[in-house]
This record gives sequence, C-alpha cells and structure tokens, in this order.
Amino acid sequence: MKVMKFGGTSVGSIESLLNLKNIVNAEQRPVVVVVSAMGGFTNQLLAMCEQAQQRDISCLDTLEAARKRHHDAVDGVVIEPMRQQVHDTIDRFIDESLKPYYLALATNPHMPVDEIERVCDAIVAHGEILSSAIVAGMFEDGTPHLSLNYMRTRPDAGGRVLDWDETARLVKADFADLGDGVHVVQGFISRDKESGAVTNLGRGGSDYTAAILASLLDAEALEIWTDVDGFMTADPRTHPDATVIPQMTYEQAQAMCDAGAKVIYPPTIAPVAMKRIPVWVKNTFNPSAPGTVIVNS
Ligand code: ASP
Ligand code: MG
Repeated sequence: MKVMKFGGTSVGSIESLLNLKNIVNAEQRPVVVVVSAMGGFTNQLLAMCEQAQQRDISCLDTLEAARKRHHDAVDGVVIEPMRQQVHDTIDRFIDESLKPYYLALATNPHMPVDEIERVCDAIVAHGEILSSAIVAGMFEDGTPHLSLNYMRTRPDAGGRVLDWDETARLVKADFADLGDGVHVVQGFISRDKESGAVTNLGRGGSDYTAAILASLLDAEALEIWTDVDGFMTADPRTHPDATVIPQMTYEQAQAMCDAGAKVIYPPTIAPVAMKRIPVWVKNTFNPSAPGTVIVNS
C-alpha cells in the first residue's frame, strides 16, 4: 500500500484534480490519498480571520468567492452520483461553521486571545475538509476519513507537537481494515489530545500527515505530488541551469529541507526514515518525469 500526498496546487484547479485522478487510478488498491487545501485557500482563511477581527465583514465576500471556486471544482470533477452530496457538504461547512465563526470574531470585541486562537485554528481546518470532500467524490471507490478522529497534538514549549503514541493508537484503529479503495484523508489538521480542540501540524503540515500515516501503516512508499519535478541542485529561479536530483538519502533530504528547500515540510522525513520507507517527490503537472527518490543509501 502507498500513501500519496497531493499539495495545494495539485488540488487547486479542475485541470490539476483531473491529473490527480489519472495518477491515482493508475495505482493498485488500496491506496491512501492525503490532500492539502485548494491552493491559496489556507492563506485566504487566515486573512479573513484578520479582517473579521478588524470588524471588516468584507471577508464574507471572499468566502462567497471561495464557495464558488469549490462548487465549480465539484461540477468539474466529482462523479455524478456523489455530486449533490458534495455540493451540500460544502454549503453546510460554509454556512453552519465558517460563517458563524467569522461573525463571532467580527462581533465580539472582548473575545479573549486564547479563544480567538481556538476559533482561527477551527477556521483554518476547513481548507482540507472541503478539498478532501471533493477528492473523495472523484472516485467510485473513494472512502473519506477524518483526520480529526486520529491525528493528535499536545502542547509543547509554547507551541504544539504531534502526540505520536495517541496518534498511533487511533490511526491503527481507524485504518484497521483498509480493504480496497481510495482512502482520502485531510492533511495538516488534528485535535488537541486533552481538550479535543481543533489544531494543526503547522503550515505545510500535510506532508507530515502523509509521512505519519505512511510510517504507522507500514506503506511500501510515500509519494509527495507537487508542482515541481523534484529536489533541484539549486533554486531554478536564480540558477536556470539547476537540475533535478534523482536520488538522495534521508540525511541529505533532511539537510536540504532544514536549509530552506521548500519542496517538503522538514518534519516529514523522520517518520519515514525510521521505517526506511522510500519517498518519491513527483510533479502532478509532469507525471512522467522521474522525480526525486529519497532512500536509505
Ligand atoms: N493547507 C496547509 C497550508 O497551506 C497545509 C499544507 O498545505 O500542507 O499550509
Ligand atoms: Mg507543501
């Protein structure tokens, strides 16, 4: 079984979603597909939080534009028997969850800081919730999973970290019987182990979700599908002669991520390195390119 993660640009348009569908349909079942929010939507959700706190309710216009973007994607990619259900899911999360959260921020000037943080964390989780509903609806054999049911964090040094043991226990229960099918999972989002509040694994954290699942489920490979051909020898914007690195070790990949290569989120490497699971970095927009493989030696 493989874990395949598709980033924001890979789920960001009808064209890229159709590429995703072809890529996943070329795989044997079962397969676990981890998705980011539609490209740019996480930034929008957070910008709308700022606006709402300034009592600027023009954020609700941005929300309507985002609603349309998601509905257009449903019409473009979701299979007929699922379409209405996915449209309804999108409207329900926007009308019954996102809007009330934004209105609460905009109308409550005395909201305590920790409450504001809690609301914004709940808001930002909607990016992956909506994109995953669309992706699950693209496959006859699509099975939705909810990361909020098994990804757990705990507070740590003013921030938060993954609670590995609790996550392992819950993931193994939720994915106990994979059977066949395309198992679609939200990247990035989680809950606090104690309070149950919605949390996340940090910006770019969908890669980390995918690596955690690959490790806990003993996947044969992790594939990170993105919008570049792989790790490059240099930044292609400043070094036009940069080339794709065909193979790296976990240590080399970790060093490049730590040094700021934006290809994958740095915490992603450890869970897969631990189990020696190969990681492929591949381009959704150029799937026949070989990409970069990260292996032990
Ligand atoms: N959607 C989240 C972000 O934009 C997580 C991710 O894409 O990996 O940071
Ligand atoms: Mg990313």
